[in-house]
Amino acid sequence: MNEDITLNPTQGFSGVQERQREELTREQVLSGESQQQMHVHAAQGVQCPYCGTVNEPEALFCASCGKPIGQTTCPNCGADIDADADFCEVCHHYIRKDVCSFCGAHMSENDAFCPNCGNPRGGIVCPTCHTINDFSFCKQCGTALTDEARQLLKELQLTPEYKEMEALAKEIQELEMVVPLSSERDKLRDQLSRKLRERVLTLLARDRGVAQPVIEEKEASVEKQDLDAKKEECLKRLNEILEQMAQKPSPQPAKVRNYAMACKPQGVRLAWECNFKHALHSSPCGCAKPQLGGKWIILGKNSRKEIKDDK
Ligand SMILES: [Zn+2]
Ligand SMILES: [Zn+2]
Ligand SMILES: [Zn+2]
Ligand SMILES: [Zn+2]
Ligand SMILES: [Zn+2]
Repeated sequence: MNEDITLNPTQGFSGVQERQREELTREQVLSGESQQQMHVHAAQGVQCPYCGTVNEPEALFCASCGKPIGQTTCPNCGADIDADADFCEVCHHYIRKDVCSFCGAHMSENDAFCPNCGNPRGGIVCPTCHTINDFSFCKQCGTALTDEARQLLKELQLTPEYKEMEALAKEIQELEMVVPLSSERDKLRDQLSRKLRERVLTLLARDRGVAQPVIEEKEASVEKQDLDAKKEECLKRLNEILEQMAQKPSPQPAKVRNYAMACKPQGVRLAWECNFKHALHSSPCGCAKPQLGGKWIILGKNSRKEIKDDK
């Protein structure tokens, strides 16, 4: 296991962000324009959105700059997919034979293990929940499965942003456990039960020969609106941090998946919104093109149905 932590804690989150930014800049230089630009179908062929070259109508990659421009079919289920997708959202399979799904390094077709990170092509079984995973974090329970993933998680956990997220997630969970006094009737009932408690305790004390019993004040009950306001405040702040940690586009889908999974706070219901189709995925492990970037968003009640790729 690789235990050396190269990241300086003071550098923290900004260091990780810096790296992302560098990748983005490099990509912008390479592609010249936004990857999200749609392909232009010229009458005699497909015009490359990156360099403008007009290619053969059936071309999948630009003859001039090599960027993916066309549509292809999933080798596993035959669904139509973009040439630069590495994952099929129809059959939920990783489809690239030449790129390691865990680290993004080049692999040859016969490699059973990645020559760079040593992870198996067939996937890694999560030691926690036993799900088979093509990517570095378990899509089911979030466990880091590779050395690189564990390293990234350690780096992120040292950052003030991550620590604040954890604290907020914990507070939100605790607030959700509190049962508020929602109506006047509840308040009245609470008052009555307090009085009854006092009377019972007084009677019991008299039985034991004590004139005046010590009655501890029951913890003050919280008004629903105060509770909601507090929860709202926590959610708002958590949302700000998630926004701040949004995943920038990167030439390597593996980098975005790994970073997004490492950023995810535990204990709050989240969905990953990709920049590709602005679909809500349960995680970037279910997105065909995470290389375009994305971010975690907090799910409210009853929003489960919006998630596109439920496992
Ligand atoms: Zn081109
Ligand atoms: Zn498929
Ligand atoms: Zn690898
Ligand atoms: Zn798992
Ligand atoms: Zn997506």
